[in-house]
Amino acid sequence: MAEKKDEIKKLKEKLLVQHKNGYHVISDKMFKACDKFCEGYKDFMNKAKIEREAVIYSIELLKKKGFVEYEKGMALKAGDKIYRNNRGKSVIASIIGTSPIEKGVRLCAAHIDSPRLDLKQNPLYEDTELALFKTHYYGGIKKYQWTTIPLALHGVIVKADGTSISVNIGEDENDPVFCVTDLLPHLATAQMQKPLAKGITGEQLNILIGSRPFKNDEESGSVKLAIIDILNKKYGITEADFVSSELEAVPAFKAKDIGFDRSMIGAYGHDDKVCAYTALIATAECKKPKHTVVTILTDKEETGSDGNTGLRSSYLEYFIADIAAALGSDGRTVLSASECLSADVNAAFDPTFPEVNERNNSAYINHGVVVTKYTGARGKAGTSDASAEFTGRVRRLMDSNNIIWQTGELGKVDEGGGGTVAAYIANLDVDTIDLGVPVLSMHAPYEIVSKLDTYMAYKAFEVFIAD
Ligand code: MN
Ligand code: MN
Repeated sequence: MAEKKDEIKKLKEKLLVQHKNGYHVISDKMFKACDKFCEGYKDFMNKAKIEREAVIYSIELLKKKGFVEYEKGMALKAGDKIYRNNRGKSVIASIIGTSPIEKGVRLCAAHIDSPRLDLKQNPLYEDTELALFKTHYYGGIKKYQWTTIPLALHGVIVKADGTSISVNIGEDENDPVFCVTDLLPHLATAQMQKPLAKGITGEQLNILIGSRPFKNDEESGSVKLAIIDILNKKYGITEADFVSSELEAVPAFKAKDIGFDRSMIGAYGHDDKVCAYTALIATAECKKPKHTVVTILTDKEETGSDGNTGLRSSYLEYFIADIAAALGSDGRTVLSASECLSADVNAAFDPTFPEVNERNNSAYINHGVVVTKYTGARGKAGTSDASAEFTGRVRRLMDSNNIIWQTGELGKVDEGGGGTVAAYIANLDVDTIDLGVPVLSMHAPYEIVSKLDTYMAYKAFEVFIAD
């Protein structure tokens, strides 16, 4: 009888899909490597909260690893490490492979922009002796989540004379922070009756930035004037300079371990810096790849990938065409032979909100990197839907390299949905599939990922680009 039980167990393992927690599989050595890797990730998260900072961080790291800035027309040979900085808001890193470029490139594409509150172009105002900034939110947010949390201000201001100033206030322990206010419950009877989506409106996301008027100046507008005076002394700007600024209010939280067991990381902007960092490190550490490696960290994914720093623009195509030409081929030949991991996060199953997921096709925390064949919404609209053949290839690649991975769909059918850059790359005739890290509380000011899943994403990129 005992034997029989054993046989049935074997049969189950052979024939049925095994949904396994990665911790039942991971080796002690990998477990240690995973925790170590995530220390580097947390550091990145504290230094690269917005796309511009992620580009600066990435280029510094790439340069240390021997990458040089690529200009069109430069000669290229196997082993060359190059990067292209697209306007300080996206970056492409590439290593020329040993096989002919006509064999295609191994693309990894992640995004480095995250949901946030952007300042309007005429943001500064005073109301009832308080100074505030008007904002326009960037990306899909639940607006109520962005009130009553400490905010930091990051970005650039281009002054009238064309000089550019970078701004980063609220991250240093000694910096002040900023805040969007909310109603006290005592007076929120009407607000609390509203649906969640309307409890806080876009025009209520005003950031409180000061309250001290000039001494001895009792005229109205004195608080606003005092604030611009501080900014003028600090940055040499006037109010008119906001019109040519990009100032982004982001949560002032630091990345921290979550849980008594420190198994997870809480941070602002895991979507999609968790895939950007893992792909970046895999690329920076890659040695002599067979296929040419091209890793893109792009901007503007959260607003639909439009604009010249987003992946609907031609900057990727131009880069491929440039390196193809330098290696005696052409862009379209290279693209048609290429493969891409569209590296973006997916929703992790949340036991507090099980109703939005279909359990057999959800991604779970600690079950590894998620491979998602299709995204989209309402009948797969807006997805590139990877072929069974390419999905099979990625599956074999993961399995043969002992990558802990799972599959997952973004929620139940018709529950909502969403897309990634996969479709824009697939539209260039590239075999593309989504692969990334499951996230809890996606698009919230503080998102959560698992360390194991993060490390497995890194390992997945590593084996994909080395293949
Ligand atoms: Mn994303
Ligand atoms: Mn997103």
